[in-house]
Amino acid sequence: MMNYRITLLPGDGIGPEIMAVAVDVLKVVGNQFNLNFEFQEAPIGGVAIDATGKPLPTETLEMCRNSNGVLLAAIGGYKWDNLPRHQRPETGLLGLRAGLGLFANLRPAKILPQLIDASTLKREIVEEVDIMVVRELTGGVYFGRPKGVFETETGEKRGVNTMAYSESEIDRIARVGFETAQKRGGKLCSVDKANVLEVSQFWRDRITLLAQEYPDVELSHLYVDNAAMQLVRWPKQFDTIVTGNLFGDILSDAAAMLTGSIGMLPSASLGASGPGVFEPVHGSAPDIAGQDKANPLAQVLSVAMMLRYALEQPLVADKIEKGVLEVLEQGYRTGDIMSEGMKLVGCQKMGEVLLEVLSL
Ligand code: NAD
Repeated sequence: MMNYRITLLPGDGIGPEIMAVAVDVLKVVGNQFNLNFEFQEAPIGGVAIDATGKPLPTETLEMCRNSNGVLLAAIGGYKWDNLPRHQRPETGLLGLRAGLGLFANLRPAKILPQLIDASTLKREIVEEVDIMVVRELTGGVYFGRPKGVFETETGEKRGVNTMAYSESEIDRIARVGFETAQKRGGKLCSVDKANVLEVSQFWRDRITLLAQEYPDVELSHLYVDNAAMQLVRWPKQFDTIVTGNLFGDILSDAAAMLTGSIGMLPSASLGASGPGVFEPVHGSAPDIAGQDKANPLAQVLSVAMMLRYALEQPLVADKIEKGVLEVLEQGYRTGDIMSEGMKLVGCQKMGEVLLEVLSL
């Protein structure tokens, strides 16, 4: 039997409701596949501020480090919105990413056939879209120096940010890109702006060099402006995309919106070693918290990502993803993805139906 220690960070708002469903799912598949999950729960975000005064208590970070995978639900809410920045729930999230050295952000944009009409694009453009955006998370123009607003010799003010990537930064995100592509359709598209930016030409050269180590992956390159256009023109051409922090920030949101249903989207953040963090893309939805209205499926799909990318259990991940498709096929919908003729259910009921399907 395989043993895994999983840190649960339910956080705020709908977090505890959707986390409860995710834990039930892990218990059921654990029994079926002979995996033993040991759960440890810790506070983060608003609940941590209330309990300890800090959005990321040291003990929480330690617990995360000391586990095989971290499942995060969501943080934040009206109550903590006016606190100083260092005490805000979001600061806890940034602290977690920095503390675990999470440099790679994986965001899938997969069209679920049952929800195809939720997309704003035409059916024939989006059906069968299955893209993974691998975004560099801790470098590039968001962190490069110099940065700031400086006064020039003429007394005029000038805002400055610096886009910079070192060899090691490019190599490690490129490897995540190649390895992700290996686990998927075997195609990797690197997105840059090499026609204008030196840093991008350097990025392209490094990735081309590394490609020799991955002969089973078909590598292509696109300029970011063309990539943005191709994403909405013919998104099916993409399998896995790897790109820097700024381009990835924008393209992953655009790719996600192809699906039209943000309540269904999981994500993963991975480091060089140590546990990754797996969480829904959506926030803590304070407007529906505590009302049993939340859609737990993005959290459940985050569990599948943890099994695939951190615990190397692709068959278990497949089973969960198929289970999600099956409950949608049976017509069950939470309010956020409800459409005519479907069966409206709450968070708990959605979880129960899913557990039934998984138990078959
Ligand atoms: P949000 O994603 O929480 O909510 C946006 C809208 O989508 C709301 O109407 C909400 O009810 C709905 N929604 C979101 N998830 C849903 C789900 N699973 N099921 C059904 N409906 C769902 O974004 P927001 O309102 O901008 O932010 C609310 C709080 O969440 C803020 O404090 C924000 O800082 C925080 N936030 C946290 C994260 C995170 O934890 N990673 C991400 C984004 C926002």
